[in-house]
Amino acid sequence: MTKKSKLIAGNWKMNGLRADGVALALDLCARAGDAPPACDILLCPPATLLHEIGTVIEESGAIDLGAQDCHALESGAHTGDISPMMLKEQGCTYVIVGHSERRADHGESDETVRAKAAAVLSADMAVIICIGETEAERDAGRAVQVVSRQLSGSLPDGASSENTIIAYEPVWAIGTGRTPTVAQVAEIHAAIRAKLGEKLAASNDLRILYGGSVKPENATELMAVDNVDGALVGGASLKVADFWAIITACS
Ligand code: PEP
Repeated sequence: MTKKSKLIAGNWKMNGLRADGVALALDLCARAGDAPPACDILLCPPATLLHEIGTVIEESGAIDLGAQDCHALESGAHTGDISPMMLKEQGCTYVIVGHSERRADHGESDETVRAKAAAVLSADMAVIICIGETEAERDAGRAVQVVSRQLSGSLPDGASSENTIIAYEPVWAIGTGRTPTVAQVAEIHAAIRAKLGEKLAASNDLRILYGGSVKPENATELMAVDNVDGALVGGASLKVADFWAIITACS
């Protein structure tokens, strides 16, 4: 995987039973078949649908499969958890780690996120590491500082543009309908790019996604911002017409 094109990733979160999920994936495959998009597409359904959605999209060859989280260990006494190799066996080639809902709901620290990211790389999949400030942190003028700290703390050894993607997701923009201004997105993405430059070779090739209330109405503007290499999309990825409109907003 090199940074050839933008990546539009759909994070379904804890949404979707089999019939709805399969219908959405089939519709998306049909659209991608009729009009191959300029960007890469990734679907991250809930773990219960990975196998089924993987089977649907495998036939199309146009869409990749990702998981929303994983455990940092390969196996063991961790009831309810899923290891990277288990996800890989279901057809996943990407795993999201450090989503703000995991950080908030499950108390995940940068250290935990880093361990999970390292485990994903060890399983030879690509990792999408989410970072982003809260509204209070932004209001206090600390957005760049917080995001830089999260990036440093969450980036595993061995990260490269081939295997790692960063998703900047301001917590206050997730699921709220609010988005940062284009200037604010540009500022944070430039800061992430600069930080990556201190840590990695070929850091300009590493994709940095924007996430937080991306929708058809703002996708063109957001995807045109410097250092925005795609989007991580929550709510709008559950409506095929909206998700497709975001995909086609990428040139
Ligand atoms: C997300 O949860 O990753 C996300 C970006 O959600 P939404 O698009 O709904 O804001």
